[in-house]
Amino acid sequence: MRILNQQNFKNQRAIVRVDFNVPLNEKFEVTDRTRIEAAKSTIDYILNKGGSCVLLSHLGRPDGRDPKLSLSHIVKTVAEVLDRPVKFCSTSVGTEAEAASNGLDQGEVLLMENLRFHKEETSGDVIFSEKLARLGTVYVNDAFGTAHRAHASTTIIARFFGKNKCFGSLLEKEVLAIEKVMDQGEKPILAILGGAKVSSKITIIESLLETVDHLIIGGGMVYTFTKALGGKVGNSICEPEYCDYALELLEKAKEKGVQIHLPVDVLAGNDFSNNANQQTFDVMNIPEGWEAMDSGPESQTIFHELIITCKTILWNGPMGVFEFSNFSKGTIAVGNSIAKATYEGAFSLVGGGDSVAAVKQFGFENKMSYISTGGGAMLESLEGKTLPGIAALNE
Ligand code: AMP
Repeated sequence: MRILNQQNFKNQRAIVRVDFNVPLNEKFEVTDRTRIEAAKSTIDYILNKGGSCVLLSHLGRPDGRDPKLSLSHIVKTVAEVLDRPVKFCSTSVGTEAEAASNGLDQGEVLLMENLRFHKEETSGDVIFSEKLARLGTVYVNDAFGTAHRAHASTTIIARFFGKNKCFGSLLEKEVLAIEKVMDQGEKPILAILGGAKVSSKITIIESLLETVDHLIIGGGMVYTFTKALGGKVGNSICEPEYCDYALELLEKAKEKGVQIHLPVDVLAGNDFSNNANQQTFDVMNIPEGWEAMDSGPESQTIFHELIITCKTILWNGPMGVFEFSNFSKGTIAVGNSIAKATYEGAFSLVGGGDSVAAVKQFGFENKMSYISTGGGAMLESLEGKTLPGIAALNE
């Protein structure tokens, strides 16, 4: 892996692909700076080593040039986070862009306009990538969130830099955290998979069966498994067309010596709302008219006993409909148990959209070893895929 401190930045203009795809309010103010803060360490490193930075990012999904999605809105916040002036260029390729980047002095930062104003960005156009490459002398990718896309600025651009390219420190941390679970995890290794549907997690489950000792299945996925095993699922979310596949997975797990743990009891509601009447049922016996929306108290105890014995823990997906406070206890319980295991020395990695949201919402942010910043990129890594953005840096 080519990393930052192996690269010379003295008098170099570094193109840094960052992920500044931040939320804006109706006044175009940044409402969450997390992604900008996450890139600070890489930018500071380059500037402290005598380089300058040309920052490239996308914002939202514009269809052509869209003033609402201009990165000019975030310049002030980037300058505050970096604690230094930040210049802005209203385009990202061409004569004006090249003049702006050529004019940079050591220690200066230039943010270019939203890359996705050009359709060539997402199509990975080679000519557009070559134009972007003219903006700097070194290429650094620090945008894990888009590393699974073969876009111009995340992947294709790298071919124009020979060995003058490297991982940013955020991207490096993400890759190392995933390796620590998937390739070098201390045993017992546990994966906790929740979320809505089995169909969206198939490749991940298959890939995890090669790695883990235990797999807890939670969330809406449970009821496809219990139906396949002959249980009654009531009105719970279920994908009957995946029942055979669920049985195959259970068989495959047995062959590989992976223990699969389903909840034994569930908290159900008589409709899909926070204020529904609640009742706890045996997981195999949920009556008609009831929809299971969380794991039950006995399951929480059993999962806790398992989680605290594991040395490597991966968590993806909530245990229930955590957005409803009355059905969030199972998700909170798992978070608490992972926090305890982590405190006692386990390595814990949380990744994938909704589990990260849950961890933040319930205050576990500083109690996990690593929280991934990239939803889709994280999921594709867990599926065992090589991300194009990462492969391009290693070429
Ligand atoms: P995913 O994006 O697949 O990780 O799914 C996350 C979503 O799954 C969240 O919005 C949860 O509300 C939802 N979810 C979790 N458990 C259940 C359940 N038992 N029934 C319906 N939805 C669920």
